[in-house]
Amino acid sequence: MTIKGLAPVMRILRREYEKKQAPVAELVQARTSDPFQVLVATILSARTLDQTTAQACRRLFKVVRNLNDLQRIPRERLSRLIYPVGFYRTKAKLLKQLPRAVTQYFNGVIPGTVEDLIRLPGVGRKTANLVVAVAFNKPAICVDTHVHRICNRWGLIRTRTPLETEMALRRRLPLKYWREFNACLVSFGQSVCRPISPHCGVCPLRAYCRRVGVMTALG
Ligand code: SF4
Repeated sequence: MTIKGLAPVMRILRREYEKKQAPVAELVQARTSDPFQVLVATILSARTLDQTTAQACRRLFKVVRNLNDLQRIPRERLSRLIYPVGFYRTKAKLLKQLPRAVTQYFNGVIPGTVEDLIRLPGVGRKTANLVVAVAFNKPAICVDTHVHRICNRWGLIRTRTPLETEMALRRRLPLKYWREFNACLVSFGQSVCRPISPHCGVCPLRAYCRRVGVMTALG
């Protein structure tokens, strides 16, 4: 697959995506465009099922609506509110460090660029890109394990790490696809192009995929 041939692929992915529930950060955005809530939801969603994250967010945002609330809440109570998201104790500890860091570096305002966001505790490039795209509605490419794996399977890029994938996509992917790329590929990667035993036999992208060509040639 080439970048030039991506238009029909994106049309198919969009159609498939509309049949599924949106990822948690986008669900939060549907209720509020508050960067604080999108950032917290994205931090909580790491290594956690979307449904579990969504339930934890519902509990948490009834009590913690902004950085001031987060500063005041005791860490133990925060842990209980977000339980059972993955690594909930570590995430509670990192979330408690957020208000001070945002005040210290950004005058109390959640920043809207990847370079600034990654200065905050618990925020890596994946989270930062997602927050920029979802909360600030700006072009950003969030590369997680699904995006990295699928782009390489397609033959769109050849990279060894998610960071290399992000940089390659930043260079080559048309800007108009940036914001939707993660949501479409995560949904597709969870349902069809799974990490182990992808469902190539029923895949709507068979005709475009390098992996199928290689498997056919291997016979
Ligand atoms: S054909 Fe297989 S490897 Fe290629 S995109 Fe579809 S599921 Fe993934």
